[in-house]
Amino acid sequence: MATKRSAVWEHFDINPCDESHATCKHCGSSVSRGAASWSTSTLMKHISRCHPCIDTSKKLNSDADSPGISSPRQQEIKCAFDRSRAWEFNDQRSLRLHRSVAEMIALDDQPFSIVQNKGFRRLMHLAELRYTLPSDSYLRQTAIPDLRTCYVGAERAPIQLSRPHLHRPPQPPVA
Ligand SMILES: [Zn+2]
Repeated sequence: MATKRSAVWEHFDINPCDESHATCKHCGSSVSRGAASWSTSTLMKHISRCHPCIDTSKKLNSDADSPGISSPRQQEIKCAFDRSRAWEFNDQRSLRLHRSVAEMIALDDQPFSIVQNKGFRRLMHLAELRYTLPSDSYLRQTAIPDLRTCYVGAERAPIQLSRPHLHRPPQPPVA
């Protein structure tokens, strides 16, 4: 049975354990496909709300418009397009930055919600156009636990992963 593919599926994978949900390739969020009957509207909404730079209106099958042979000029355009194309969530380059964001949160004692802060998002977008910040639940459930695993057994942890102010012994009063 042929499945009708919406362009929005370029940005989601169906959850193999729960087909009623799809995972966003950009931020790792799990998005419901709707209650009564599945549709792509919730997915579209997620993209327009969380990833406003992504255009989901473009057609997937534009083969009819493009000739079989591509000219050097067309290849050049394609290359330029690839250079500005958003990295997938599990791209090595994305994973490296996810990890770096997790380290920053641990090192600077920042809340996970920093990834939703407008200023931080703008900064990251400017620094690397192709990178999309992960959700705070991804950081909490995956990136931070992964960091802990990395540093277990390390001679000297490069960063203090626990929130230092929660564990610091009471300081003697300053005379
Ligand atoms: Zn997303």
